[in-house]
Amino acid sequence: MNLILMGLPGAGKGTQAEKIVEKYNIPHISTGDMFRLAIKEGTALGQEAKSFMDKGELVPDEVTIGIVRERLSKPDCQEGFLLDGFPRTIAQADALENLLADMNESVDYVLHIDVPKDKLVERLTGRRVCPTCGATYHVIFNPPKEEGKCDHDGAELIQREDDQPETVKKRLEVNVEQSQPLLDFYQEKGYLVTFDGDRDINLVFEDIDKKLGGLVK
Ligand SMILES: [Zn+2]
Repeated sequence: MNLILMGLPGAGKGTQAEKIVEKYNIPHISTGDMFRLAIKEGTALGQEAKSFMDKGELVPDEVTIGIVRERLSKPDCQEGFLLDGFPRTIAQADALENLLADMNESVDYVLHIDVPKDKLVERLTGRRVCPTCGATYHVIFNPPKEEGKCDHDGAELIQREDDQPETVKKRLEVNVEQSQPLLDFYQEKGYLVTFDGDRDINLVFEDIDKKLGGLVK
């Protein structure tokens, strides 16, 4: 089964990806991992990607798509894959369609984990970090035993700059702008399945599982 996972930061993509990969025995392919592997293997495309990354530049689509092609051709993708973080643009989505068509394949589902933005702000701003030992907490989901203090060493917990409400809201807005055209694209293709992600993670997975269980491949 060929799957694409979509969702805003904090929607719980990572958790669902773990569960999907474990149950359906397909590789979880994130963009970062894909680049790291190509660079480690020293492929021509990997070296090209690295030259852009070293300069702090965006890797051009043709290089990225070449790396995706190499990755999806590996034996572990024979039964399918779960793409995460790719495609990011309509141009990349089009290229992926062509690439899969070349392989006599197609996307089966685009799994979209949907959580209202205000809930994401709540999730993402609740993180607290211990400046001494690096332990992370969440004021709602994983609170320390004593409010504001590290369980291990009693240090005063801090909120990272990245987790401040204004930063979080801006990050989400950028992500919405980027992902909405893709969601529309996949809706039109008939691949998009949206799941209410504002629930217990096991319930979200149950619904995903139900959908994927019906997939004959
Ligand atoms: Zn600590």
